[in-house]
Amino acid sequence: MALLITDECINCDVCEPECPNDAIYMGQEIYEIDPTKCTECVGHFDEPQCQQVCPVSCIPFNPEWRESKEKLQAKYERLQAELKTAT
Ligand code: SF4
Ligand code: SF4
Repeated sequence: MALLITDECINCDVCEPECPNDAIYMGQEIYEIDPTKCTECVGHFDEPQCQQVCPVSCIPFNPEWRESKEKLQAKYERLQAELKTAT
């Protein structure tokens, strides 16, 4: 399951640099998460890093993107492979 930033976001800029997958970006008004890049931090950390640092707790799981641990692991591996081909 990917994570989602709600409109309670105060644009504090804290989460964006914490994401190991570069899944967080500034949207039209608030920060957003690209669900195709969010692995719940699987492959990098035990806990979603953005959730840990958000001062207003506005990063819940995205109910539209339900994925098993195996799928998240596969997404992580795909992203790593893409990184390698990009460098
Ligand atoms: S859970 Fe991890 S991978 Fe997903 S947006 Fe947050 S920091 Fe990035
Ligand atoms: S840490 Fe929370 S409040 Fe700050 S930019 Fe990220 S989602 Fe918004």
